[in-house]
Amino acid sequence: MNPALTDADKAFWRIAMARYIASPFPPASPKRGETAFLRRLSAVLLMALILTVMPFESRPSGPDVSFSSDTLVRGDLILLRVRGEASDNIQVVWMEKEIPLVHNSNGCLWHGFLAADLNQKPGVYPVAVRVPSRGLERYFKLRVNDRDYGVRKIRLPRAKVELDEASLQRVKKEAQTVNSLWDADCRPPEWKGSFRIPVDNKIVGPFGQKSIINKKKRSPHTGVDIRGKTGSLVRAANSGTVVLVADHFFTGKSVYMDHGGCIFNMYFHLDSIQVEEGDFIEKGQILGRVGATGRATGPHLHWGVRVNGARVNPLTLIELSRELDP
Ligand SMILES: [Zn+2]
Repeated sequence: MNPALTDADKAFWRIAMARYIASPFPPASPKRGETAFLRRLSAVLLMALILTVMPFESRPSGPDVSFSSDTLVRGDLILLRVRGEASDNIQVVWMEKEIPLVHNSNGCLWHGFLAADLNQKPGVYPVAVRVPSRGLERYFKLRVNDRDYGVRKIRLPRAKVELDEASLQRVKKEAQTVNSLWDADCRPPEWKGSFRIPVDNKIVGPFGQKSIINKKKRSPHTGVDIRGKTGSLVRAANSGTVVLVADHFFTGKSVYMDHGGCIFNMYFHLDSIQVEEGDFIEKGQILGRVGATGRATGPHLHWGVRVNGARVNPLTLIELSRELDP
């Protein structure tokens, strides 16, 4: 597990990446006979090339790095792989955070997730990969694209949408409790190999949809809804620790799991809960049963995922983590 970034580290990365972003061109070396127009044209073409061919790397002499994809969309993630020596202390920085890495059994291949929050502004974001012990570093640029996730229209009882003062206060307090989970330091990874679907059934509510509730625009859907009858078993998507068990206004009976490595999973609207805060849970172990508690239109499991603080599509986490199975 890499240590948390100190303030000095953060400042270093911010400056290094700001410089890198600001000066994407090698120093100009004027050639005889080349007109100002052609120089300008080639600069424009080079910029176009840099923005199209992603990832763009600055120093090919650094560590061996690859990505599962050259671009990503808001609300999604990609897998980063770094090859090195078993003794390397590899640092990866993305979106101003150090990205936790896990390594394979012989310790020479590291994996980490680069995630873009559902509300992340589309644009080009730098990735820095550094092996301080060997003086190696490499920078890349990854484009985060927009995506149209579509719209869902829901009808709910008025009291569940237009909240009275008491409910507003309750919701505010509950949000503070949940947000304190994301503020805590990243713990060492407890998850291992691929993530699994917590209820083996169809997705009835896709990730990312804009929500129109009782004809009014509300927050987008930050998880997936999985079909399930009341009482169907809900299993842990991976191994980790239960960090919050609650009965909240919107999410009903809820379980929050910290898998370490800055990966959290959330299970909402449960009918009953079979685990307690502080429990270490193995992948596939029963957490509780499907229900319709909180603000739900019927029994289903809402499954949400946060990776390095970003709200991302849980189904991509399943897909990408398969590469980490032995
Ligand atoms: Zn949902």
